[in-house]
Amino acid sequence: MSSTRIVACCFIAVLISGCAHWQRRQTTHFVMHYEKGSPAERDIDELAVKIEGFHKDATETYDFIPDRKISYYFHNRLPLSFFGSQCWGYIWMDRIHVAYSEKGKDESPHELRHYVLHKINRSAPDFFDEGSAGIGIKIQDKTFHQWVKETAPAKIDLEACIKNPDRFGKPGDFVAYSFCTFLFSKLGNKKYGQFYRRVTKKNYSPVLEELTGMPFGSLEAEWKKLVQAQHTGRKKSEANKSMNHDKQ
Ligand SMILES: [Zn+2]
Repeated sequence: MSSTRIVACCFIAVLISGCAHWQRRQTTHFVMHYEKGSPAERDIDELAVKIEGFHKDATETYDFIPDRKISYYFHNRLPLSFFGSQCWGYIWMDRIHVAYSEKGKDESPHELRHYVLHKINRSAPDFFDEGSAGIGIKIQDKTFHQWVKETAPAKIDLEACIKNPDRFGKPGDFVAYSFCTFLFSKLGNKKYGQFYRRVTKKNYSPVLEELTGMPFGSLEAEWKKLVQAQHTGRKKSEANKSMNHDKQ
């Protein structure tokens, strides 16, 4: 990416967070920003309780103590735009930004988890960064084990997904969410946190073997068995329609 593009994006990001008439509300661990008359203003008490709960879970799992309050922006629009991509949320200049509008509300811990994950291990593969942000989250009331069964290619090559997640697009993200959810329930939150602190593209297999007592191939087989045992109750064509809708 050219330096001109980065400067332009910085400038736009400053405009985005600087020009809106942000109202502020402080909690124990956050400075929440929202716009007057927006859905976030209406729900601000509920949102404060929710993000403090997400903060407790994330910091306990990853044994992370932030050294300052985290800035959290609730934008009254959807989609948001980040480096040319449309999205529900992003992190920029140490601040969390999420969409919170009548059109769609990000009420998940996804971006806050990314914030914590980036602080504790910048060398973690993107697969585990993305997957860990989506642990246990559902879309349209369906788990990601169910989404993987419906939408991912029949023969998933987990190692290829970990080494090159961009190649697989959305189905690759769903595989990451599902596999990390599986690992989290197998290891428990403390051990999962230890795993994440150590994981790199080169060591994920031996580190997982040390923590679970199982070779990576056996873990992959157990996860695939779990995915295959899911009941989805929907036809593949309907599932593909939903996936396109989620590409925002
Ligand atoms: Zn993400």
